[in-house]
Amino acid sequence: MLVTQKEDDVKSLVEGLNFSQKVERSLALIDHAYREFGKGFVIANSLGKDSVVVWHLAKRVSSEIRGFIVTTRYKPRETVQFMHEEVAKYPELQVYRNDAQTPKELYALDPDLCCNILKVEPTRKAIKEMRVTCWGTGLRCTEGRTRTDFREVEERDEGLIKLNPILIWYEREVWQYLALNQVRVNPLYARGYRSLGCEPCTQIAAGKDERAGRWIGTSKCGGECGIHTRPLKLDYQI
Ligand code: SF4
Repeated sequence: MLVTQKEDDVKSLVEGLNFSQKVERSLALIDHAYREFGKGFVIANSLGKDSVVVWHLAKRVSSEIRGFIVTTRYKPRETVQFMHEEVAKYPELQVYRNDAQTPKELYALDPDLCCNILKVEPTRKAIKEMRVTCWGTGLRCTEGRTRTDFREVEERDEGLIKLNPILIWYEREVWQYLALNQVRVNPLYARGYRSLGCEPCTQIAAGKDERAGRWIGTSKCGGECGIHTRPLKLDYQI
């Protein structure tokens, strides 16, 4: 299902399609991936609002679609509680976590290394163990400066297709979908967070950039944990 898109094509879809057309397009992309990859098509569910939308869309396509959650020892209490509730409701969600020891406050000393150990490694493990050939994500190109260069269908790792079915949605459309479908979200959003991550690296931030509250005060500010930028088809170390 390799679709090559230019940056301008993505931009015209973001601006040119209305909410309902975007929902239909996302459902069609997920349906296409599920038909092509079957059990190898798996959703990476970060439990954030965007992942919750993709998970809901996937369940509309087929209740059989599986997912995985990567959690860390630093997730906020509310996120852990929300995760337990989602897993109880959807046992086809598998949880991955790296319990290896890390230096104290590694997140402050070297957040890239911390994310690599606690997020990227368990993602590699999930992809290998669940025999993923195509993974679906909640990534959106309007989220921040580091997310403008993605496409709806990508092959960053050879033999591993990545589907970003809501790539072209605005933040407003995510909330529109969640409200119209009465989908529950992490209660932290009610406090003002717009992007959720680990507790020491996530703050409530005002302003235009949705991911501005992530890794404030580090070189990673507003950036990425690495699961969307690093190779994933490698042997994991956990
Ligand atoms: S978000 Fe922060 S605490 Fe979580 S893995 Fe990355 S650096 Fe570590």
